[in-house]
Amino acid sequence: MTISIRPNVKLMEPYQPGKPISEVKRELGLDRVVKLASNENPFGPSPKAVEAVRKAALEMHLYPDGAAYSLRQALSKKFDVPTSHLLVGNGSDELIHLLGLVLLDKPTDEVVIGDPSFVRYDAAANLAPCRLVKVPLDGTFTHDLAAMRGAVTTDTKIVFVCNPNNPTGTIVTKTDFEAFLNDLPGHVAVVLDEAYYEFACSNPEYPKSLDYVKAGRNVIGLRTFSKAYGLAGIRIGYGFAPEVVVDAVNRAREPFDVNSLAQAAAEAALGDKEHVAKTVENNRAEAERISRALADWGMKPVPTSANFVFVQLDRPGKPVFQQLLKMGVIVRATDEMGQPNCIRISIGTHEENSFLLDCLKEVLEK
Ligand SMILES: *Cc1c(COP(=O)(O)O)cnc(C)c1O
Repeated sequence: MTISIRPNVKLMEPYQPGKPISEVKRELGLDRVVKLASNENPFGPSPKAVEAVRKAALEMHLYPDGAAYSLRQALSKKFDVPTSHLLVGNGSDELIHLLGLVLLDKPTDEVVIGDPSFVRYDAAANLAPCRLVKVPLDGTFTHDLAAMRGAVTTDTKIVFVCNPNNPTGTIVTKTDFEAFLNDLPGHVAVVLDEAYYEFACSNPEYPKSLDYVKAGRNVIGLRTFSKAYGLAGIRIGYGFAPEVVVDAVNRAREPFDVNSLAQAAAEAALGDKEHVAKTVENNRAEAERISRALADWGMKPVPTSANFVFVQLDRPGKPVFQQLLKMGVIVRATDEMGQPNCIRISIGTHEENSFLLDCLKEVLEK
């Protein structure tokens, strides 16, 4: 018997997640391990979300509300947008995946993405029969919108703009984004992935997907509860999109894709402004501190608008990653993303960052 697998699937690599703390402790016999690898919230979840999950747990024998009615109402109110423009998914990863499924149709269809950018766009494209077009970032590690525009053809269905970009932390400005959007042919959907929105939105030059969706543009905005809201483990994301896209996603998704605990947690977290404010303020101060220290040591941190710093080192990044790991600090090696001389460091609490800086200093002085 020969079971044949779709060729596009064979092109895919299984996702390499940041190492879990428990695994590193066990393998290396360490007591203290700090994870600065997956851009999680160093303060944990909102206490209000934890309380909501406790309550919701008593009803987990029931199927969740497949329409996420209560959460959609809360999102609609908070962002002043009709529920018909709201997407809710099992993480924004699921929404990325579903957008590929509902928008891509033929092997000649094209998806344009930055390089390096978020790895899940590759997966969304590869699961549909289509052609993935990768456009290198510019010299400042920012999306090169002019080059991306140049890569758009009559076959292009989706352009993914990750803003701030993971793994580099840079943003495209409102001026540049609007020029790009105005110049695009009408058949192209632009996905603005705003997973790090809360860390960037105070910048007046930051373009907001919601404004374009409200104006009826071909823009789909994606947000998540995994980063600033601290709910990565329970899996829930949301987004803003034209009604035709929301309708398509609702047809294609699993009926109970977002579980009841996640819905309860998200709604409670949405109402906890203090938790997000504390997270964003710590991040601002600590990103500055880490970046300054790295620059003092002769490294080149890329100015960040997110909760991580992408650093160009003066040597290969993988051995630095490995030595930090042995000392109990998990960061992200970026060699698989085609950036062998860099690492990506998530911003932790003040204390975690001090530990990181002490260890990193020792590694770099060796
Ligand atoms: C973390 C991240 C996501 C995924 O978020 P989930 O809601 O946890 O699936 C999406 N896009 C980018 C750019 C991310 O960094």
